[in-house]
This record gives sequence, C-alpha cells and structure tokens, in this order.
Amino acid sequence: MVFSYELFGRLFVYLAIAIFSITGFTLLIGLYSFKRNTMIFPNLILFVLYLFYSPAKWICHVFSIKDTLVDEILVEVRNAVMIDKFKKICDKKVLILPQCMRHSSCQARCDPIVGYQCKECGKCDIGLLCQEARKYNFKVFVIPGDSFVKKIMRSYKPNSCIGVACFQELTESMQSVSKHIPVQGVFLLKDGCYMTTVDIEEVVTKMEMCDV
Ligand code: SF4
Repeated sequence: MVFSYELFGRLFVYLAIAIFSITGFTLLIGLYSFKRNTMIFPNLILFVLYLFYSPAKWICHVFSIKDTLVDEILVEVRNAVMIDKFKKICDKKVLILPQCMRHSSCQARCDPIVGYQCKECGKCDIGLLCQEARKYNFKVFVIPGDSFVKKIMRSYKPNSCIGVACFQELTESMQSVSKHIPVQGVFLLKDGCYMTTVDIEEVVTKMEMCDV
C-alpha cells in the first residue's frame, strides 16, 4: 500500500512536470508566432493552450509576464486560422459588441433575445459602429452577457462573426462560436465593465476584409 502511494505521488509529479513543460513550450511557440506574425503549428497552440489554460496563466504569473498574454495568443492565432474562411462569407455577418461600451446615459432598450437596440444617439462608439456595419452588410448585436451569444446563434443563425470583448470573455466565446462559423476577435482597449472602448479602426478593417 505504501509503495502504491509512493508510485501515485511520483506519477503525479511526472504528470505535472509534463503538463507544465508542454504548456511552457507551447507558450513560447505561441509568443514567437504572435510577435513575428508567422503562425507555427497554430492548431497545436490552440489545442494545448485551451486545454491547459490555467497552467499557462500560472506560468505567466510565475515569470512576471502579464497573464492576458495567453488570451492574446489564443485570439490572434484563432484570427489567423479563420481569416480566409471569414473573408469569403458575404451574408448573415454579425458584429457582437458588449453592453459595457454603452454610454452611462444610454436609452437603448434591452430585448431578451437580441440584447440592446442602439438608437444611434451618438453618445458612444456603438452608434458609429452601427453606421459602419451597415456599409459592410454586418448586423450589430449589443449583448449584456455571454449567454446572448448562444441566443443569437440560435435565433439569427449567422454565417460569420466579429466579436468584441475583454480578454477571458473573448477567448471563451471565440472557442465556442468557432466550432460553427468563422470568427474574428477584437479586444477591448479599455475594459472594466463600464464605458469601455475598442479600436474602431481595427473593427472596421475586419469588416472591410469581407465580401459585401
Ligand atoms: S449610441 Fe446607441 S448604445 Fe451608445 S448611448 Fe446611444 S443608444 Fe446607447
């Protein structure tokens, strides 16, 4: 029995070392790809970093690297993997924005299925993005939370999607949406769940890439 516990302990240590070695190595490949804009083993990076998401964050923490690097790598690699398919979609394209981008005095009504219905009053960037989205044939959804992504997928059945969100939320949502349709992600510039902002030009550039 003592031997079994010892063996179990050793196996656990070896397994932990293996997981952290594989994750650390994948982080390095991901970082190299991310910085050089050259994708090396993208599917391996996505598989390992999603599977060992928490250990990857822990490794960043130990080496005093900002742990959002894991999300940045995952989103940029996913963007690169899906960009060709994304560009080819010409109908039922959606832009999903978080409700925290709204101005504090926003008067938009929240629908239980499709989220906030922007009146384009001009107080925040959502109105501007709605105007740009019309030019490129994108439908805009302003959602109060992750659960609305599933509702939109079921009710509107989009063929492609651009998502804007904070680090962890975008990483998680892109993983689930990308199983069904090509997706592109853009991080919020300023998060914090209140009057957040995004790089408008980056979002518009992604919309421009698609066939109208
Ligand atoms: S532009 Fe739209 S989302 Fe922004 S404050 Fe006005 S109604 Fe609300």
